[in-house]
Amino acid sequence: MYTFAYLRPKSIDEAISLMESYGERTRYIGGGTDILVKIKEKKVLPDFFISLRHISEMAYINYGEAKGILQIGSMTTHSMLEEPSPHPEKIPDPE
Ligand SMILES: Cc1cc2nc3c(=O)[nH]c(=O)nc-3n(C[C@H](O)[C@H](O)[C@H](O)COP(=O)(O)OP(=O)(O)OC[C@H]3O[C@@H](n4cnc5c(N)ncnc54)[C@H](O)[C@@H]3O)c2cc1C
Repeated sequence: MYTFAYLRPKSIDEAISLMESYGERTRYIGGGTDILVKIKEKKVLPDFFISLRHISEMAYINYGEAKGILQIGSMTTHSMLEEPSPHPEKIPDPE
């Protein structure tokens, strides 16, 4: 039976430090959509998962000073994006 350890860092620094400590047989996991498919197909079988779900500093929407600059963190959820923007005037026009 395949077993693994699931690590839950609270900060980016901690996540990086865990990756440095556990090394090659370690993978970050966000929602698991892709990686769980790869595990089922036995394409990757990590010994350690580092979950990114509890790192609040990766879930953000930042509006820049000028229109056209919008930064979205890589753990931002769809529901966060669905919230009305506090700065609609700064949202870039879709092209
Ligand atoms: C059945 C299926 C249907 C899909 N449908 C769609 C679709 O309709 N539209 C679409 O756009 N995409 C779709 N995808 C693609 C999928 O949504 C993307 O690949 C998405 O990136 C998966 O996110 P996750 O957080 O679940 O990734 P995971 O499976 O958790 O991780 C995937 C890879 O990214 C790394 N990773 C995860 N999170 C981060 C992070 N925050 N920062 C850096 N690295 C990270 C992991 O280490 C891993 O290598 C689909 C995939 C599958 C398997």
